[in-house]
Amino acid sequence: MNNRQHILDWGPGELAAWCQQRNIPSYRAEQVLQWIYQKNVFEFGAMSNLPADLKVLLNDEFLILSGQQARQSTSDDDTLKILTRWSDENLTETVMIPEKTRRTVCVSSQVGCPVGCTFCASGMEGLTRSLKPGEMVEQVLRIQALLGPDHRVGNIVMMGMGEPLANYQHVLTAVRTFNASWAFGIGARQITISTAGLPDRIRKLAHEELQFTLAVSLHAGNESVRQQIIPWAQRTSTEELFSAIDYFYDQTHREVTLEYILLDGVNTSDQDADKLAYWARQSRCNVNLINYNEVAELPFKRLSADGARAFKNRLRRRGINAHLRPSRGRDIDAACGQLRRRHLYPVTQQDKPTAG
Ligand code: SAH
Ligand code: SF4
Repeated sequence: MNNRQHILDWGPGELAAWCQQRNIPSYRAEQVLQWIYQKNVFEFGAMSNLPADLKVLLNDEFLILSGQQARQSTSDDDTLKILTRWSDENLTETVMIPEKTRRTVCVSSQVGCPVGCTFCASGMEGLTRSLKPGEMVEQVLRIQALLGPDHRVGNIVMMGMGEPLANYQHVLTAVRTFNASWAFGIGARQITISTAGLPDRIRKLAHEELQFTLAVSLHAGNESVRQQIIPWAQRTSTEELFSAIDYFYDQTHREVTLEYILLDGVNTSDQDADKLAYWARQSRCNVNLINYNEVAELPFKRLSADGARAFKNRLRRRGINAHLRPSRGRDIDAACGQLRRRHLYPVTQQDKPTAG
């Protein structure tokens, strides 16, 4: 451990103030940030337009990357996944999903997750700790550096490990950095915050100045099923959740996406589709269906491809804007929390879930 500051926690204002306190011209702050975010140079010594004494001072006081890359894997469909080990030995994972022209990064907000959804690898041991803003920013920076100058990260989804709204301030700070022109310059609407559904925090989000996209993991229109698979849903009713979603829409005029994971036999009947359609219609939500990525230790099964299509079509016949998200990177455990779990608790080849 060392006590240098993580520079990715800082914005231009703080860095300029740091410069001023040391009688360094504040434009040096802009130069440093340009090296980091535009040129992906991660050593102060290599920042050729800075004076030598400033490089030494920066190096004494700051870290650029605070973690180490513990593992990197690329799947058959070019999905890239990295595992980062932080200075306290904790691991988090980050996934990059390439589409035709877009590069989407799935960022983790916590080590583990306090919500403990019964189907999810991230929540299996509860929460270890929340990530700092710089640790979320570092995940995107590492991916951008691996992509190189030909491909820019254009979309961010806060859908890695953790519940973003249980780490509210740090997540919002990181999201502002994703959006900032001095950093990544990613359009706010291209940034999605996904939550298991905390009504108070959703109402608070409605007053943030940024135009990010909000996704709520509904997973069941039936309240008792929802409470069985998302333990924190026991703290609130589905009615209260949708009242917060309506409030968000009224304040921002931005449609909310409902995420719905397809767990065969748990939430996939015709009645389940109809309940989902009911909520989506009444709160003007889009629906994103995600077929389950099986987790070796857990009993849940994904729905057949035909079943998933039929579920989507039933929603569409009811006038809902529903999409089935393609499963990406299944051969490298690209779903939430799975690579970290595999790294911590290796399983034999036989234990691995089979594609189906
Ligand atoms: N905690 C937040 C964000 C992280 S999870 C939330 O729950 O929304 C992001 C999405 O991945 C959620 O919709 C979650 O249900 C889904 N997910 C988790 N485990 C999965 C798995 N094994 N297969 C497919 N999707 C999964
Ligand atoms: Fe946490 Fe989201 Fe996984 Fe639930 S699905 S345990 S809220 S990361």
